[in-house]
Amino acid sequence: VSPQPPGALIAGVDAGGTTFKCALARLSGEIVARQRVPVTSPGETVNACVHFFEEALARQKGVLAGLGLASFGPVEVDPSSSDYGTILATPKPGWSNTPLLAMFRDRLGVPVNLDTDVNGALAAERRLGAAQGARSAAYVTIGTGIGAGLWAGEGFLAKPLHPEFGHIRVERHPDDLIFRGVCAFHGGCLEGLASAPALEQRFGDPAALPSAHRAWTIEAFYLAQACLTLYLSARPERILLGGGIMLAEGLLPKVHAAFADLLGGYLGLSEAGIAQLIQRPALGDDAGLIGALTLAQDAINETTWSG
Ligand code: ZN
Repeated sequence: VSPQPPGALIAGVDAGGTTFKCALARLSGEIVARQRVPVTSPGETVNACVHFFEEALARQKGVLAGLGLASFGPVEVDPSSSDYGTILATPKPGWSNTPLLAMFRDRLGVPVNLDTDVNGALAAERRLGAAQGARSAAYVTIGTGIGAGLWAGEGFLAKPLHPEFGHIRVERHPDDLIFRGVCAFHGGCLEGLASAPALEQRFGDPAALPSAHRAWTIEAFYLAQACLTLYLSARPERILLGGGIMLAEGLLPKVHAAFADLLGGYLGLSEAGIAQLIQRPALGDDAGLIGALTLAQDAINETTWSG
């Protein structure tokens, strides 16, 4: 554990596709200030985050020791790469090849540690949330995009890369054969059919859809396929479904039912077993932010929150 000056604080950014959630915290992880920054251009967005941190640090009379970034993808997560922390080719306008980590490091002058938003959220859920005690777990976020992080054994799967689980192919729902899908690369991949923009294009604002709307039956069919693929390939003890879309009332039970249907009795999983396997994250909206603070701890070699 490296010695830190009195008043040392850490910063975390949960860098999502539409919002960057920022927090300043004590070394213990206790959050002392937070701010949501809407995503516009890379320069403007990073600038607004840095501005918040500088003001909050001045108010706290604190010294920043390190920053953790839990970022949307695709992003280079290999610390040995010269492009570490750079956003790769993305359909998100203006964001391809953005050196996100370097932009923050240059402005704040502290060690920065970056991983995917889903790995960050999964780290937080393993430590404090719904994946505590699970020997292997997956975290899937369903929002502007779809991504997944997987933990097994002693680490995240796919390192030094990260999974591109949002782009797996899925079987079409019989009532959803015409829609082209919104993925700029594949049309109707999982993200192309089940992300928030995909729902919005077919059915309008997802937040305004009643729980009995057929959109949720179709959505549950795709998410159940995603869970089944995860379960059959990696056999995680827990699959957490997070992101804005999962806030829809009644969606999780529909996913459970569709999952049971697709599994077809194989492996003898009971209804209760499926409900135990596939859950909502316990830390809710804060999982990514707490994950980012965990990454900040790692950045300054604190070992208190290991694993
Ligand atoms: Zn795709």
